[in-house]
Amino acid sequence: MSQSPEGFPDIHLVGVAKSFAGAGRAVEAVAQVDLVLDGGQMTALVGPSGCGKSTLLRLIAGLERPSEGRITIGAESPDELRQRAGLAVAFQDAALLPWRTVESNIALGRALARKPRDPEMIAELITLVGLSGFERRRPAELSGGMRQRAAIARALAGEPELLLLDEPFAAVDALTRDRLNAELPPLWEARGATSVLVTHSVAEAVRLSDRVIVLTPRPARVAADIPVRLPRPRGPEAVASGEFRALCTQVTEALRDHQYPESVAAQ
Ligand code: ADP
Ligand code: MG
Repeated sequence: MSQSPEGFPDIHLVGVAKSFAGAGRAVEAVAQVDLVLDGGQMTALVGPSGCGKSTLLRLIAGLERPSEGRITIGAESPDELRQRAGLAVAFQDAALLPWRTVESNIALGRALARKPRDPEMIAELITLVGLSGFERRRPAELSGGMRQRAAIARALAGEPELLLLDEPFAAVDALTRDRLNAELPPLWEARGATSVLVTHSVAEAVRLSDRVIVLTPRPARVAADIPVRLPRPRGPEAVASGEFRALCTQVTEALRDHQYPESVAAQ
């Protein structure tokens, strides 16, 4: 089956590997990843810095091509899904258009997805990501965290079938991050999407996802595959529960079991 009951596409990665040709020897970023990510689910990818998480996400987005193996999203290639604007990305370097206002950058997410204008929805998104009062500002007038929140709103505005988030909260302060962790999931759950979130926060991965994939140091392989069956919404009580903490421990231990040799030596 290539689609979930709600019609959101599964992602199939079959023998996916990616190397980058360098000046000297090639850099192997991803090695032999075989995964099926269920349609409509939120999968978190965690792994040490530089292990190949962003590369894996860019492969799924069709922004890079695998050196080996194949990726399909539903019945399509990543390229096909991109071309009909069925996916949205919010990457680390929130690439907003500098000459457009916040509001118009977010509305652009909807236009690019070829969805009808919906000023009310855009206004709701702006409130949700805490940018009320900044609608008419340009990206250069915002902090890094505010730009990132605008980029998330832009991705959600297109109501994509596939939502790819690369450390979307990395530049956001801890309090805002906590608030977004609590308030954003209902927004994408309401409509649904197949989602992949790259994060280096174990707690964020467990709180937001249905499944955590732990990756090895570079080249990225699957080190552990941990289902998260906590009920939603996951408010403060859920996060304080023993079950939540046990899952965080399981992810942390999988990361520790597969860390870089130099970080073992450094301890
Ligand atoms: P992560 O997101 O887990 O921190 P990345 O996927 O960004 O890791 O990078 C994995 C490895 O691939 C790193 O060694 C990085 O330098 C290398 N890499 C990523 N993109 C390129 C590229 N376009 N050209 C050459 N090397 C790259
Ligand atoms: Mg990265």
